[in-house]
Amino acid sequence: MYEVLEDRCRACGVCYNAFNCPAIQRVEDGKAWVDPLLCVGCSECEQICPFDAFKPAEDVDERWAKLMRIAVPRP
Ligand code: SF4
Ligand code: SF4
Repeated sequence: MYEVLEDRCRACGVCYNAFNCPAIQRVEDGKAWVDPLLCVGCSECEQICPFDAFKPAEDVDERWAKLMRIAVPRP
């Protein structure tokens, strides 16, 4: 999963206006936030942010990380 580093985000809006990821949301101050329930960890956001604000989340709940490792898509 990815997260937005708040001190790097400049609230430019590129990620939530021009990029179509349902996990990225705008918060009150115009900065971006990643909904951890929707993020699939594809890393596309890391490539489109002009201020390098998206990073892999360091504080991922181990139970959730384990579930993501063993989850198999339905046929
Ligand atoms: S593109 Fe980057 S700097 Fe701009 S709002 Fe999104 S996270 Fe913040
Ligand atoms: S890693 Fe992928 S799914 Fe997660 S916020 Fe970035 S673009 Fe969206």
